[in-house]
Amino acid sequence: MAEKRDYYEVLGVERNADADTIKKAYRKAAIKYHPDKNPGDKEAEEKFKEAAEAYDVLSNEDKRARYDRFGHAGMNGAGGAGGYGGFSGGGFSMEDIFEQFGDIFGGAFGGGFGSFGGGRSRGNRRQSRGSDIRVTVKLTLKEIAEGVTKKLKISKTVACSECGGSGAKSGSGYSTCSKCGGSGYVITVQNSFFGRMQTQSVCPDCGGEGRIIKERCTKCNGEGTERGQEIVEVNIPAGVAEGMAIKVEGKGNAARRGGVNGDLIVVIEEIEDAQLMRDGNDLVHTLNITATTAILGGEVEVPTIDGRVRIKIAQGTHAGKVLRLRGKGLPSVNGMGRGDIKVIVDVTIPTELTKQERELVEKLDKMPHFKQPEKLENQNILERMKSFFRG
Ligand SMILES: [Zn+2]
Ligand SMILES: [Zn+2]
Repeated sequence: MAEKRDYYEVLGVERNADADTIKKAYRKAAIKYHPDKNPGDKEAEEKFKEAAEAYDVLSNEDKRARYDRFGHAGMNGAGGAGGYGGFSGGGFSMEDIFEQFGDIFGGAFGGGFGSFGGGRSRGNRRQSRGSDIRVTVKLTLKEIAEGVTKKLKISKTVACSECGGSGAKSGSGYSTCSKCGGSGYVITVQNSFFGRMQTQSVCPDCGGEGRIIKERCTKCNGEGTERGQEIVEVNIPAGVAEGMAIKVEGKGNAARRGGVNGDLIVVIEEIEDAQLMRDGNDLVHTLNITATTAILGGEVEVPTIDGRVRIKIAQGTHAGKVLRLRGKGLPSVNGMGRGDIKVIVDVTIPTELTKQERELVEKLDKMPHFKQPEKLENQNILERMKSFFRG
């Protein structure tokens, strides 16, 4: 959302407006931007929420005083005492608004809450949802390269083994809540400032479930859940990277009384490989060759995901040269192509010499090809590093 608007401006009232003026202004805004009047209109929905937030603050003496002193800054975080948590997640949900302020504008919509946009859960029974579980799985480079199926042992709440998750003692089952007639909500009608108002609230008897257990399961005390474990198989595609998450639907914590299970969120962690460093879908290996191999050329071994392979080193290979093993890197997670292995050559220079070695190198030093060249051709290490990063 953009910059928060001033609450007085949102409701279109003066800063010294009294409570009645504020209430009237909110009612007007709520009716104007009501979702029933503006079906599918996101902007109207935002305005509807914005007005509710402004009203929530300006209709409460404490909150209003704090807002007048500190502005929006006074409304966030720990300072927001007095049940102010509602806004911290970025405003009210539509549910919250109907629940808290429904009485203010409810009467304006003849059919009461039953007529509120079909997609919302008004008038529907509340169904509980289990919480999600996050786990981390560590993968080797080989597992990332090939994709892997992991069996994870997850500690979580599961459906009660005695009642199968219903929470009811075997055979007893449920009866429809007599207070709300099974709807999960009760509507109260009262005469108020604006005339007859309807308020819909969660049924106090059944907690919104619309049903009442005849006799509670003794094992789970009517909750329908118990602690347990489940082995969950997770298919991890090739090419995943550190921090990616895979959602396994319905494998999180079981919900109360047969509600909807939460999800299992599997977060990928890479086990660093000692030889191959990851760079996107490419892998980088630093290869040490001897000074003589660098000068004469030869064959050396380098690691790949599938084991070591031999590669040729050309005569006259400089330190910093990058050799590419095309297509030997990691597959892209969306199945589009494969990276390379980039081998960066480093040349090992001996730090100790025998007498004989010293004599030989001193002889070499006088040879024409071992003189310091006038101009360093394509040898600037910075240039080579740049070309490496350009890929
Ligand atoms: Zn049970
Ligand atoms: Zn009820």
